[in-house]
Amino acid sequence: MHESDYDLVVLGAGSGGLATAKRAASYGARVAIIEQGRVGGTCVIRGCVPKKLMVYAAEFAHLASDATGYGWSFGSASHDWLSFVDSRDRAVAGLESTHERLLAEAGVELVRGAARLRAAGEVDAGGRLLSTRNVLIATGGRPRLPSVEGADHAISSDGIFELRRRPEELAIVGGGYIACEFASIFAAMGSRVHLLLRGDLPLRGFDGDLRRELDLALRAGGVDVRPRTVVRAIRRLAAGVVLDLDGVEGSSELTSDQCLLYAIGRSPNTEGLGLEEIGVELDASGHVVCGEDGETSVAGVFAVGDVTGRAALTPVAIQAGRLLADRVFGGKNVAMSYQNVPTAVFTDPPIGTVGLTEEEAAASFGSDGIRVYEARFRPMLHSLTGRASVTRVKLVVKADDERVLGCHLIGKDAPEIIQGFAVAVKMGATKRDFDATVGIHPSSAEEFVTLR
Ligand code: FAD
Ligand code: NDP
Repeated sequence: MHESDYDLVVLGAGSGGLATAKRAASYGARVAIIEQGRVGGTCVIRGCVPKKLMVYAAEFAHLASDATGYGWSFGSASHDWLSFVDSRDRAVAGLESTHERLLAEAGVELVRGAARLRAAGEVDAGGRLLSTRNVLIATGGRPRLPSVEGADHAISSDGIFELRRRPEELAIVGGGYIACEFASIFAAMGSRVHLLLRGDLPLRGFDGDLRRELDLALRAGGVDVRPRTVVRAIRRLAAGVVLDLDGVEGSSELTSDQCLLYAIGRSPNTEGLGLEEIGVELDASGHVVCGEDGETSVAGVFAVGDVTGRAALTPVAIQAGRLLADRVFGGKNVAMSYQNVPTAVFTDPPIGTVGLTEEEAAASFGSDGIRVYEARFRPMLHSLTGRASVTRVKLVVKADDERVLGCHLIGKDAPEIIQGFAVAVKMGATKRDFDATVGIHPSSAEEFVTLR
């Protein structure tokens, strides 16, 4: 029998692929990882990392004016976009090199090229054939583009990271994570931002109170939020793009200086991988169908991360991949759990959330079966800045046993705060456990343990 060259061949060196490859190699598995683009994938190269650096850049815009309330005065502020973009891109390139080094140190072979499955245990990597016992599909996704006339005048989140000039005016279509985060970033940096939602509020799927609060905050931050607005066509003029809109006030036109961002979700990278040819089942939107353990319909072929269509978040891809490697190569059996996955939206102010929204809890347990505790206040920082930024904390609790079902926060430091509370929610903490915990004063987080 032909001996396989590898124990695992990973398709895609993004968050999920890198984590799985290194964990598998740590158990002595012979691992190769194939990447057709830059090592690091979406998160490192054109997602979380450069985005978060842009969030930080935008936060400085407020610091100068906030500081005046505390007695500081600075000379006139200005921002050098190109200098920031160059620093950001250098940081990303540095991280890319770090990931390449970590792969080498882990003993994982990096193969450059486009991967395609020839059989369950045979992968073509840019013309080189690798035989393997197991395959991991971790090819992630890419921005979805609309079928609207003139859509080629729009950019996606990938294009945002290529802007060599900050747009004076930016229209954004979509109301999800990416649309809201970039609306906040560019509004703070001084661009005029129009956010075109097809629904009533941003962030469908999040707790209703947080959505309403974010809607108010975006508007307070200068974003022109337009609910129930559909783009019919896009035309390019020398001066920018013109959008033909159907909105709540009938049809209208919107001219945006030159930038139109579409952030309407992402599609999985499964075309051309040879998956269906070898019997790997895909769903209607092209995601790989697999169990929570990553097993696909073909033995020895696994999938993790965005390509599976489950909670498209970096830590999810990483954890699913590590647990998969632990099971297949390390003899450990800890199941991946997709329940109570915390998540953050890096808007201004940011959102952090874990567990069920009030709407989801009421649908599961009835509105009499849950209790909601909440507080809305102006954080102490802003008592001197004059900025109308609001913090809102909310606990959704099961009425009979007081188990905390959901923990939601919009306000400064929400992502940092909710990471800790996520541990409590994951452990099944009750409202009594929260009440029995002494607060940290003065903080916003202490509100979670003093809610009545
Ligand atoms: P990816 O990271 O997309 O990696 C897939 C890799 O496979 C890519 O490198 C690709 O080039 C490669 N590939 C594809 N096809 C082939 C092929 N045929 N052959 C070889 N290689 C191939 N998540 C968070 O948790 N927090 C955030 O703040 C956050 N911010 C984001 C901001 C933006 C703008 C975007 C777009 C996403 C953000 N995400 C965030 C989501 C996060 O980036 C993804 O969930 C994560 O990168 C998924 O990892 P993955 O391994 O599944 O796929
Ligand atoms: P999302 O799924 O978050 O949001 C998509 C948005 O686009 C929704 O508001 C949706 O509206 C709207 N939409 C969909 N189709 C159309 C259309 N044809 N016309 C107009 N609007 C449309 O996708 P994103 O692209 O924002 O982000 C992709 C994923 O990346 C996220 O789901 C998240 O998992 C991940 N991500 C995570 C981040 C983080 O952790 N902070 C940051 C960025 C991305 P409707 O609600 O009406 O369906």
